[in-house]
Amino acid sequence: MPTTTKTLQVPSAGAPFVSTTMERRDLRDDDILIDVEFAGICHSDIHTARDEWGQAHYPITPGHEIAGTVAAVGDGVTRYKVGDRVGVGCLVDSCGECEQCKNGQEMFCRASVGTYNSQHADGEWAQGGYAQQHVVSERFALRIPDEIPLDEAAPLLCAGITTYSPLKRWGAGPGKKVAVVGVGGLGHMGVKIANAMGAEVTTLSRSDAKADDAKALGAKQHIATSDAAAMKAARGSFDIILNTVSADLDMEAYLRLLKPNGALVNVGLPPENYSVAPFALIGGNKVLTGSQIGGIAETQEMLDVCAEHGLGATIEVLDASDPASVDDAWDRVVAGDVRYRVVIDTATIGA
Ligand code: NAP
Ligand code: ZN
Repeated sequence: MPTTTKTLQVPSAGAPFVSTTMERRDLRDDDILIDVEFAGICHSDIHTARDEWGQAHYPITPGHEIAGTVAAVGDGVTRYKVGDRVGVGCLVDSCGECEQCKNGQEMFCRASVGTYNSQHADGEWAQGGYAQQHVVSERFALRIPDEIPLDEAAPLLCAGITTYSPLKRWGAGPGKKVAVVGVGGLGHMGVKIANAMGAEVTTLSRSDAKADDAKALGAKQHIATSDAAAMKAARGSFDIILNTVSADLDMEAYLRLLKPNGALVNVGLPPENYSVAPFALIGGNKVLTGSQIGGIAETQEMLDVCAEHGLGATIEVLDASDPASVDDAWDRVVAGDVRYRVVIDTATIGA
């Protein structure tokens, strides 16, 4: 039997949230049914459902930072049992057979399916985690270690892996200077993770308002990007810059802060184009690159590393019994006013 679940949905572009119900598919052999307890609010939810990237398909139940417990399992499920603590991130399906899937990079599979605003091969539209229940193949579920409370774990499923993967790939560790641009949902996890990896972390934020918090999160230094003298003094000082900003930035100003051979990794996804002069890359052999979430195995690795280091997200738990509270939370995310991830308490949906 399909499961009817309470959910918060955006019915059309620009419309406020409504509290409603939707059906989750009947369990296939490899599916698990999850009682969702917490769902993080990622800025990508907002870009998508406000149709800033185009191609939004309504209604949309956003949410790809999902944490809960297993409520039922399909007949062929081997990895999970009822009661297990699990998470779901940005991916819910892929072919499982191509080179990318075999290399653990399911996000690059040409048949990959996102957690919402994405269509399964059989035509089913995927719907995300702002809901009380979720159905997903066990291949796309992650085990949440007991050490991490579920509410603090939810944001790791996107913000955690999206920062862990490029920090690891570009060698964040002892002796490396890492700058994190934008102290938001992704950025604050980037600071915690780079610090846990042993790098020396600097935060770059629009003002000094988050300076004390940044130090508490693990940054050694904080620079307000509005301070021209401080930006000038920081030129040539970083091995890795992780840009998590959700809006357009002057890339050249940040490339100047890299050491020769350093890498500026963009994970922020503003709808606007970046603009870079060739000279800004060639002088100093600078690398300008991007990074998209991370594969399933690496996401599990990230969760285990976070548990080892006692890391979860720094969160504000949201009572969503009034659907307008989610619209308000989205406005606060856009204003950069959240400390540092809003997590919906899904038990309050439709209450
Ligand atoms: P967020 O919580 O809103 O954080 C973004 C931060 O950017 C803000 O806290 C703010 O930091 C800074 N910022 C915002 N507006 C700005 C502006 N106009 N100028 C300069 N700085 C500004 O968002 P998030 O959830 O971390 O997501 C960040 C971006 O990553 C989004 O574009 C999202 O779509 C994208 N994303 C990408 C991936 C991927 O796979 N690559 C995965 C998830 C999300 P300060 O207040 O410190 O200045
Ligand atoms: Zn996200």
